[in-house]
Amino acid sequence: MSDRVPPAQTVDLTRVRNFGVVAHIDAGKTTLCERMLVRTGVESRLGEVEDGTAALDWMPEERERGISISAAATSLPWREHQLHLIDTPGHVDFTIEVERSLRVLDGAIIVFDVLAGVQAQSEAVWKQMRRHGCAAVAFVNKLDRGGADFMAALAGIERRLGVRCAPLAYPYYRGAELVMVADIVRLCAIGSCVGARPALWVELPAAIVEEVGVLRAELAELLAEEDEQIFECVADGRAPSAELMLAALRRRTLQGSLLAVACGSALNAIGIDAALDLVVDLLPSPADKPPVHAMATGGAELLVSQRADEPLVLFAFKLQRIGARDLVFVRVMRGELRAGERAVVARGYCSVTARAIFRPHADSLEPVDVAVCGDIVAVEGFDGVATGDTICDPSAVCALEGLEVPEPVLSLAVEPPGAKDREALRAGLARLVREDPSLAVREDEASGQWILSGMGELHLEIALGQLRAQTKLAVRGSAPQVAYREVLLQPARACARIQRAFGAATLLGAIELEVLPAAEGSQVEVTFDSAAPPAASYQPAIAATLASLAMVGPASGNPLARARIHVRAAGRAGEVDSEAGVLQAVGSAWHELLPRLEVELHEPWMSFEVLSPSVYASGVLGDLQARSADIREVQSQGAATRIQGSVPLSGMFGYASAARSLTQGRAEFTMRPAGTRAVPRQELAARGLAGE
Ligand code: GDP
Repeated sequence: MSDRVPPAQTVDLTRVRNFGVVAHIDAGKTTLCERMLVRTGVESRLGEVEDGTAALDWMPEERERGISISAAATSLPWREHQLHLIDTPGHVDFTIEVERSLRVLDGAIIVFDVLAGVQAQSEAVWKQMRRHGCAAVAFVNKLDRGGADFMAALAGIERRLGVRCAPLAYPYYRGAELVMVADIVRLCAIGSCVGARPALWVELPAAIVEEVGVLRAELAELLAEEDEQIFECVADGRAPSAELMLAALRRRTLQGSLLAVACGSALNAIGIDAALDLVVDLLPSPADKPPVHAMATGGAELLVSQRADEPLVLFAFKLQRIGARDLVFVRVMRGELRAGERAVVARGYCSVTARAIFRPHADSLEPVDVAVCGDIVAVEGFDGVATGDTICDPSAVCALEGLEVPEPVLSLAVEPPGAKDREALRAGLARLVREDPSLAVREDEASGQWILSGMGELHLEIALGQLRAQTKLAVRGSAPQVAYREVLLQPARACARIQRAFGAATLLGAIELEVLPAAEGSQVEVTFDSAAPPAASYQPAIAATLASLAMVGPASGNPLARARIHVRAAGRAGEVDSEAGVLQAVGSAWHELLPRLEVELHEPWMSFEVLSPSVYASGVLGDLQARSADIREVQSQGAATRIQGSVPLSGMFGYASAARSLTQGRAEFTMRPAGTRAVPRQELAARGLAGE
């Protein structure tokens, strides 16, 4: 590394935390983030979700709706550590946002509403976190509410998530009013923090000394199971020190073998210090993270370790326009990025320049000269970069694993206000899809419309709103419809050869395409034959052409799915082909192949969970059955009944209002995509889909 410029600053990675706050909608995630911003002095004014001024919810759509839609990154200082907070959305339509945030986070606080307990979305996020090896701590919120029972909430978390909980905080009430939380490890209590002023540290109130003592002893016993020093303390009847306990808690948090839980009331700014301490004390730093897998140019696997003195690797996890700037949010996975530096996007090998680098805070930006390994920054100048891209030093190009993109479940038709606006709309749609990989777009040649597909009604509605704002066009959108797809059943093969005089030159191309059924969940994948591959320089264009051709299937014009298209060069020895010729051959082979494809029309199914007061449960069940639901489980939970199962999405339009009227607005309902199933043949005609 001697020929490289030495790092601009020595960064102590152990003092960096990249963390997120995740939760089911309404658990209080935005309020908690706001309080943390104020407490750390980043934000001086308290934003309230209800009056639409919360700093992290800065997109106009979010202010109107009072929910966090897009992940915004913010840096905050706490106890001589640099905390990078990624705000992640809680709405089920935006799981890709959670997914992409989890790729750049090392840990997260998972927020639970003490009364609602573990809700469907928090359980889903928990599973996603486990899959990504993202360490977790928890904050049980809303302890100020009547009927709040922290210990019962802990038992619920243990039961539903199947994890051992370690309470680190305990609430103290004066009458019915929550006044402070006790720190079980440090044996002190801490009241409300008003603004950035330090909260009041006090001795433990006498009324809870005994309970807190018992909880601390239980915690010591739990930690003694895997920590020798604590075991010795417990065996000798001594209380282990706070440092010893925190070190053991940290190890267990990184292993994922227990969940440390703090509590409080975000609304009343109680427990905010405890939440920040959880991040510093227990969540991993980039230095704790194992190296990540990547693919080198030739296809060889390699490991990218978090080191500042090796060639640059960035992961782009979000595109966002802030003011007049088009920004790409990246995590520096290795090396360091300097303003003005040139880099290469692994997909397509195009070169980009980091014109400016910013440390983001909601909607304000602080320019910096250099971002180092472990940092999360926003970069200006990365034109053409898409969410999920890897950006590298030109001397060492590699690609990190891309994002796992769910299949869209709903589509709508999009039209420009006038024919002259078509190109502006096309560009706007392309940008939208680069920003959000869970959106897909295709042009319907017959109608001249574009079909935009996404993860739910709200997702599409917001995408349309962004499209209108970005293009400044009165773009028209139809009502959303279920996104059907044509699942390939049998392999098929076709070959085409182009040989044509083209001016003085000859246009030559010869290609064989083989289409093979692929696994469930996969969309269309293009592979190249290793024995007879088309020239490597043509491959990106061939893959793009086939991906776009496969958007229109043979049966109903819906996209082809679960198919692998294998491409072989079919030229004769000594022939010289050209990219244009090869692409023409691909087009002809495809048109020959298309009518031969045997497909089955599939529709998206959703898994659902309805929590209804038990008195209305039979009505809710009957209604779900009428919508062709498969009921998997009906479980009573106190005065409520939890109904789980799966259902075709086509039967669920308007369900939210049906559920409201069946339960006098008291049901809670969530749905998540759960793959696709074949549309019953007898229904094809009624739904206006070609068939029979
Ligand atoms: P998010 O959807 O998880 O981001 O939740 P929000 O932060 O938007 O909060 C949802 C609602 O719960 C809002 O009306 C908040 O004012 C309210 N809320 C948040 N924290 C608390 C709390 O600690 N106590 C009470 N009583 N309400 C809270």
